[in-house]
Amino acid sequence: MVATNDCDVLIVGAGPAGLMLSTWLSKLKIRTRIVDKAPTKVLVGHADGVQCRTVEVFQSFGFAQRLVDEGAHINEVVSWALDSKGDLQRTGRIPDNEPGTSRFPHAVLSQGRIERFLLDAMKDFNELTVQRSTAPVSMSVDQNLVADFSPNSYPISVTLRRLTEEESVPTQLGAVPNGLHRSNLLADDESDAAKGTKEAGAFDNAGEEETIRTKFLVGCDGARSWVRKQMGLSLEGDAAGAVWGVLDAIVSETSFPDIRLKCTVQSKVGSILIVPRERDYVRFYIQIGSTKPGERFDRSSVTPESIIETAKKIMAPYTLECSDFEWWTVYEVGQRLCKTFSHDERVFIAGDACHTHSPKAGQGMNTSMMDTYNLGWKLAHVLQGKATPDLLKTYSEERYKVAKELIDLDYKLSRMFSAKPKEEGGDGDGVSLAEFKAFFKSLSRWASGTAVHYLPNMLVAPERQPALAPGLPTGMRFESHLVVALADARPWHLGDRLVSDGRWRIILFAGDVREQEQKEKLEQIAAYLDTPDGPIRRYTPPDDDLDSVIEVLTIISNPRISVEPNAFPAILWPARKPYGSRAYDKLYADDSSPVTPNVRGKIYKNLGIDPKTGCIAVVRPDQTVSLVCALDEHKQIGDFFAQFMIAQA
Ligand code: FAD
Repeated sequence: MVATNDCDVLIVGAGPAGLMLSTWLSKLKIRTRIVDKAPTKVLVGHADGVQCRTVEVFQSFGFAQRLVDEGAHINEVVSWALDSKGDLQRTGRIPDNEPGTSRFPHAVLSQGRIERFLLDAMKDFNELTVQRSTAPVSMSVDQNLVADFSPNSYPISVTLRRLTEEESVPTQLGAVPNGLHRSNLLADDESDAAKGTKEAGAFDNAGEEETIRTKFLVGCDGARSWVRKQMGLSLEGDAAGAVWGVLDAIVSETSFPDIRLKCTVQSKVGSILIVPRERDYVRFYIQIGSTKPGERFDRSSVTPESIIETAKKIMAPYTLECSDFEWWTVYEVGQRLCKTFSHDERVFIAGDACHTHSPKAGQGMNTSMMDTYNLGWKLAHVLQGKATPDLLKTYSEERYKVAKELIDLDYKLSRMFSAKPKEEGGDGDGVSLAEFKAFFKSLSRWASGTAVHYLPNMLVAPERQPALAPGLPTGMRFESHLVVALADARPWHLGDRLVSDGRWRIILFAGDVREQEQKEKLEQIAAYLDTPDGPIRRYTPPDDDLDSVIEVLTIISNPRISVEPNAFPAILWPARKPYGSRAYDKLYADDSSPVTPNVRGKIYKNLGIDPKTGCIAVVRPDQTVSLVCALDEHKQIGDFFAQFMIAQA
């Protein structure tokens, strides 16, 4: 039977990339469908590292604390290598992230739990759930409708089919059981596992087809992406891959002192990466081989026992005994990249569908989620008639750059891991300890996700010279610091005011408003923002709250109690509908609060902003800094938004 349904966005694939997108779109109340060929989410294993920047994004959706509480925290990276006598020695310790990188830790938790948090959030936001055991079988794009963004235009048709158990359940790796202990699952994942079975009726509708009309299609369907193939694209690059044995185990006995720290161990036998995990588990990554293009690795030779035997040899003379294997895999990857992530700005791909690389830098899941965090609000802006479709072009441009940097870095990292250790100053291809350590240090900021830097485009203005806020480069994420609310003296991390709700922020660093000159500049900006042609009134639908599209936050540099909130122009703390209460949560000072008198965020100092003269920062809905200008250059804000926003009046 063929039924027809319309939606605004159809997402194929409910891994980290697809679920981040569906979470974003449900938060923004976009009509979304998401399907996945597997009968359940990931339950154990797969990716595990959640970088600081990803935790910041989770915080902006309201569920970072679940990750922080459940996950193991990576604070230090320790390197071990052979000394000149051939003995394994601890050769260095570095902080996992440079102090001050983020207020959140680098946390480690099973991909299945991350998927749980996203699934819960999208259900809470808009009752959205994943349609499982379902895959697309055909699609067509009506070229006559591609440029038509009127409400009833649906250029894409996709036929979905409900799969049989054989088609839906991934095949077990080799003949050896993978050690998946269902009893280890947390209660909320247990019910997922139970629902995805034949007994629970997961395949009762196998063979049924449904044709969906959609405005946008996003392929988040992993490295073998069906959507990418329909776009006529492929992953390009080194098809030859490193082959990794990955094992999550409980270490019951070891004389190795750093088993609860992230460690690299390099010996003559090979290299190993040790990652402490939640619930006392430890993850071991060992490169067990490599393949040439077209070659397949014989996976049947690898078992959890063989992985741990190799680990023992690398870590000798330290002892290592494991009592439980929770999950293991042989993970075969090349560094590959798709040349574009979009087709006609109607069909997009994200995550592993566009880039694959080794798991060593712990970036796969993070980069995948950040792809769709970049895309989600842009799709919503176009669908809600706030912005022209042109802004969708920035998705592929911005995320391709990040993926390319990741692939280049992974290539270097692979070389570091695979090369034989080399004596300091020695000849040959090896890698010396100093090189290894220096590289890991340089990796740290990048790997935290906070170094992502988008180049100037219509959503990122070129950096003003000289920079007025060196700590807020355009194209990078807004760095959060503590401030205090003028009205109720509550301390806030400013980042917590930049929630992911689709709004832009104009952040007025007003300087010292006790000074007449600064006060006048602030009044001039307020007057500009209040005019019908100013960006706020121009882009806000007439019946909506004045802060519903662009929110203005003001941070003064003078002490909280040296100025009254009522002294600020009304547009900076507008009345809220329907009762007309004033928005007191828009005004802040760079000051301590009475409850934390000795803690001051020093936001002006940390961002390099002159506390006398201040500046303006325009921040995107994904917390990327778009524009920094002087207070008296405020007309630049209007020019910036005019490039892509649609007037609502
Ligand atoms: P995926 O997580 O691959 O999700 C894609 C989703 O799309 C899946 O749910 C899949 O069922 C679904 N799908 C695929 N095709 C279709 C279709 N035609 N129709 C409908 N649905 C479809 N990274 C690490 O950092 N460390 C690791 O140890 C590690 N181990 C891994 C082990 C395995 C076996 C795999 C597959 C990946 C591993 N990764 C690891 C990589 C990491 O999991 C990915 O980088 C990350 O999950 C990418 O997220 P994604 O959403 O783009 O793709």
